[in-house]
Amino acid sequence: MHDDVKNLFKEKGLRITPQRLEIWNIVKKMDTHPATEDVFELVRKRFSNISFDTVYRTLTLFEKFGIIKKVHYFTNRTLYDTNLAPHHHFVCMRCRKIIDFTWEDMDNTDIPEYVKSMGKPDSIYVEIRGICKECLKKESRSKSKKKLKSQT
Ligand SMILES: [Zn+2]
Ligand SMILES: [Zn+2]
Repeated sequence: MHDDVKNLFKEKGLRITPQRLEIWNIVKKMDTHPATEDVFELVRKRFSNISFDTVYRTLTLFEKFGIIKKVHYFTNRTLYDTNLAPHHHFVCMRCRKIIDFTWEDMDNTDIPEYVKSMGKPDSIYVEIRGICKECLKKESRSKSKKKLKSQT
């Protein structure tokens, strides 16, 4: 795994530093589309002296070299995506979690002519907004608690 990273960096022409490797490993391990703040918190555990700015610049660099992608959501925070394969997002409106999914039928859908007339479409990206499983569970739990309370 470690060699893979080094090869990837080399291939892209990115200089390898221990901090960069650590940041990469952290981002890669998080499958939650982390914000710079999230990555910073984790990197600090090993590199206590690292500055927020360094993490920010490293992530920007990774993006420039095409090894991560930027995702923008309702907040002004920039989130990063390490999944470079074409995929869609399920966005939880409650906890703001973003879950990747693939949808082959959608990818192969014919783009309507009137959309094609707007320009040259390149790819289809679907964002489904809703409430994730975990949040639904929490919701039903707190509801049943309330029910119990009202009965007593
Ligand atoms: Zn949620
Ligand atoms: Zn994603």
